Amino acid sequence: MRILITGAAGFLGSHLSDRLITDGHQVVGLDNFITGSPNNIAHLAASENFIFYKRDVSEYIFIPGKVDAVLHFASPASPNPQSPLAYFNLPIQTMKAGALGTHNTLGVAKSNNARYLLASTSEIYGDPTVHPQTEDYAGNVDPTGPRAVYDEAKRFAESLTLAYHRQHNVDTRIVRIFNTYGPRMDLEDGRALPNLLKQALLKQPLTIYGDGQQTRSFCYVDDLVDGLLRLLYSNEHMPVNIGNPVEMSLLQFAEIINRVTQNPAGLTFVSDARSSRDPQRRRPDITRAQNILGWQPKIDLEEGLRRTIPYFKEKLGLA
Ligand code: NAD
Repeated sequence: MRILITGAAGFLGSHLSDRLITDGHQVVGLDNFITGSPNNIAHLAASENFIFYKRDVSEYIFIPGKVDAVLHFASPASPNPQSPLAYFNLPIQTMKAGALGTHNTLGVAKSNNARYLLASTSEIYGDPTVHPQTEDYAGNVDPTGPRAVYDEAKRFAESLTLAYHRQHNVDTRIVRIFNTYGPRMDLEDGRALPNLLKQALLKQPLTIYGDGQQTRSFCYVDDLVDGLLRLLYSNEHMPVNIGNPVEMSLLQFAEIINRVTQNPAGLTFVSDARSSRDPQRRRPDITRAQNILGWQPKIDLEEGLRRTIPYFKEKLGLA
């Protein structure tokens, strides 16, 4: 297949490009580098199965030649308010990537009679009142809250994707991605995993906000890509959660990180408004992915950390 990937120079888009090229497909990458980097796709420059266009998905998109599938991943995605690349700090660009970008990429799929896959997010569940989150849970999102630019853009994107499916018969898929980690992730994305892993590699005590009982679940990127492609090759049009359902407290998580990195510095507890602002619990119910796609994650946290550490060391100048 000849596959258009928007956001190809980002964390997930670059891994998807790698995997699809390895599987023998041709990838047309598109990105405006607003949060991604040319470094993430530099290794693909020599491949005859990769071409790249620097474009903004919020503008009209024309791709020369036939496209068999469109994977729409372009969007700011970092939840770290301190990062200039976070969606909080790119609010209009984020809404445009989710709304206009989805419209434009659905147009490419429609005119090519191509399959379409939308990268949605667990954030559409907002601050969930149902745990774990199943796909039929409609979510708890504040349309004017600080996260709304991301959550509501993705909710609109899901609705528009299904509208194109229902009205124009476009062959669409929607994946709701939960926290994912691995090489090429943004070390400053503000999530617990990069924060704690950075501290551990620098042999600092790991900072635990509150009592550390907040839970998280993290999916290694290769597992995620495997689930995404199973969905692409399936006939499922309704949203499917892809994420790792193994939930652990931040305390347990920090202890595993310290063990894998052999960090002797231990933990430090900080009481901070941050612990009440962060979602207390987030975990995917992956029953649909198991039943429909035969998918579940295979790479456990220790193995995923071992595969991610060399990239973190390089970024931190420790390699
Ligand atoms: P990322 O920031 O690394 O990648 C996003 C890419 O999109 C970047 O390369 C950026 O430059 C590009 N982009 C943004 N706006 C654009 C525009 N208007 N035109 C062209 N390119 C544009 O983020 P990521 O973590 O790889 O996320 C990719 C997708 O997956 C996003 O849609 C995100 O919402 C979704 N997602 C990711 C996670 C995760 O854990 N990483 C979780 C849920 C959902």
